[in-house]
Amino acid sequence: MSRIEKIKQNLCDGEALLIKSAANRRYLTGFPSSAGAVLITRKCARLLIDFRYFEKARAEVKTCEVVLCRSVYDEIKASGITRLYLENEDVSLAELSRMEQKLLGTELLRDPKFDKLIADMRAVKDEGELMAIRRAQKITDEGFSYILGRIEEGRTERDIMLDLEFFMRRQGSEGVAFDFIVVSGKNSSLPHGVPTERKIEKGDFITMDFGARVEGYCSDMTRTVAVGNVSEEQSAVYETVLSAQKAALAEIKAGRVCRDIDKIARDIIENAGYTGAFGHGLGHSVGLEIHENPSFNTVCETTLKAGNIMTVEPGIYLENRFGVRIEDMVYVTEDGCINLTRSEKKLIIL
Ligand code: ZN
Ligand code: ZN
Repeated sequence: MSRIEKIKQNLCDGEALLIKSAANRRYLTGFPSSAGAVLITRKCARLLIDFRYFEKARAEVKTCEVVLCRSVYDEIKASGITRLYLENEDVSLAELSRMEQKLLGTELLRDPKFDKLIADMRAVKDEGELMAIRRAQKITDEGFSYILGRIEEGRTERDIMLDLEFFMRRQGSEGVAFDFIVVSGKNSSLPHGVPTERKIEKGDFITMDFGARVEGYCSDMTRTVAVGNVSEEQSAVYETVLSAQKAALAEIKAGRVCRDIDKIARDIIENAGYTGAFGHGLGHSVGLEIHENPSFNTVCETTLKAGNIMTVEPGIYLENRFGVRIEDMVYVTEDGCINLTRSEKKLIIL
């Protein structure tokens, strides 16, 4: 059954669902645009789109009717819809007030059942989605191989980030999956540090977190490499992070609870004496958005399903000294997982 059919089945006569978020619009229509809405009733689904996109949308969208539209509200009023479901996760308070004024007589429903239905659908990837993510990850792996030959003393974090981004876009990435993180030396203790003009020095760890985008789908990988030499402590921290990651990867399969997977990695890091140094979740789902649900963290009680694509990214961050993170992306199956990341994980010293 198609994605839109599944939604239609959950609507009664007189009811409609209004989808405005970019990721859900793209998920349901395959069409990327900066504006527009998908209006779904029990009987029909329409992409309401403005003049800038209309010609292309009409030629490409196969999953629903494409309607040239100036005002989504007028279209809703003209459709005789009495009960309208909204995306709770997306509608701002300002937009809600506007809708309350413009759609007098239409009941605006805050029941998040469709947010949940679509999130559940998006969490399980189909063949086409898996293929796009595999291609995005291939470009990411190629980016890592390329940049290894370009990291040297004296180059700045920002310069490395730009070099990597340009290379990956030339390899076919539509854009970055997120702003790349390239942090070195002391900066590497910042899990989401922004690349600076700091120059690489001998003895630095360099953590690079980056990903490509193909057909709208993201990839996500982190590697930490060293330049010149590493101390015994740096090496011990690296090996602890790697063993935590491998232990978690070995346990991932459909049916496992997300927070239990997080605990496997967290226990290894804490038992090695680094309590408090791994201050974020172990991983997250990836798809049209870089962070999707479910997530590996200390509270997520969701059960993994075959078809989930998850990152596994333990880290240890020692304030004002250095940090290490290693991140792979896996496809969950009934009896394990397929690692989509090919890049080397042994400590590389350049
Ligand atoms: Zn990442
Ligand atoms: Zn990630």
